[in-house]
Amino acid sequence: LDVNFAPYINFKGEARGVVVVLHDITEIRRLEKMRSDFVANVSHELRTPITSIKGFTETLLEGAMQDEETCRNFLQIISDESERLYRMIRDILDLSKIEQKRIPLHMSQVNVQELIASAAAVIHDQAQRKELSMALPTGEPDIWLMTDKDCLQQIMLNLLSNAVAYTPEGGEITINAKREGRNLKLQVIDTGIGIPEKDIPRIFERFYRVDKARSRDSGGTGLGLAIVKHLVENLHGQISVESKEGKGTTFTVTLPML
Ligand code: ADP
Repeated sequence: LDVNFAPYINFKGEARGVVVVLHDITEIRRLEKMRSDFVANVSHELRTPITSIKGFTETLLEGAMQDEETCRNFLQIISDESERLYRMIRDILDLSKIEQKRIPLHMSQVNVQELIASAAAVIHDQAQRKELSMALPTGEPDIWLMTDKDCLQQIMLNLLSNAVAYTPEGGEITINAKREGRNLKLQVIDTGIGIPEKDIPRIFERFYRVDKARSRDSGGTGLGLAIVKHLVENLHGQISVESKEGKGTTFTVTLPML
């Protein structure tokens, strides 16, 4: 609470009392704290790949370059970490634009099955490398949704690339799409490593990862789900998750069918 006092003086110049002005600044403080926490997190997260790039470069320059295999290994790490840094900066910029709703929605009638097929095509190679099978929605007549196509495409891509990243070789990924009352229900189901119960409430936070090391190996930035949650909210929808460790995870996105 921000409190200001001022004497109340009447027209004759006599002090008649005190004027007290109370401002509720809890919300302002909360936003300020969120912003400064975000900057602190971003700096920390960006420092990790930079430290590693710097370290391996210096070791190479100090003589490790003589050995070709070491050289190759180190350069691979430097290349992977640069890639991750690039993705991180891209995700941070995307997230801040989405959060500030600086991306206007471009609504159009979208064929949902077609959109899912094109998102699946983008990650097809990654999935195939891990011998993951992918089942797309079939049977139903075409579903049309008034929505922002790019926005929905990014939601599906992020969920699918997580499903691929956190499902061991030979697993299965299933995508469902169906009408439910006035809503469209989209699901991305995997048979992967699952998410421990205690972590579930936190996975949509920026930079939150269940297992930092494992997520880093998978090239993760810890921002994918934060982006998904904001995009879903921009489309006036909801997202939920069910998961069992060692069994798999289901993400469900519910969007209003206008
Ligand atoms: P990341 O870039 O680390 O994947 P995300 O924001 O996309 O970041 O996800 C946050 C965390 O949630 C991940 O680090 C991972 O631990 C967990 N997670 C997300 N999707 C899945 C999934 N399909 N299966 C298991 N764990 C998942």
